[in-house]
Amino acid sequence: MAVPKKRTSKMKKRQRRSHHRLAGLNLARCAHCGAAIRPHRVCHNCGQYKGEAVVQMDDF
Ligand SMILES: [Zn+2]
Repeated sequence: MAVPKKRTSKMKKRQRRSHHRLAGLNLARCAHCGAAIRPHRVCHNCGQYKGEAVVQMDDF
């Protein structure tokens, strides 16, 4: 089994992990009600997708 020859320094470890943060959410506006929505998903406020009511919101 491969074994590291040298212990990784704190700096090298932290430099490597500096890229591990999560990217922020990409948000768009609902064309119908203007609420912030995630792209390619039904609007949670009005149930519309691409200008069509695909979820009847009074069901919930
Ligand atoms: Zn909406």
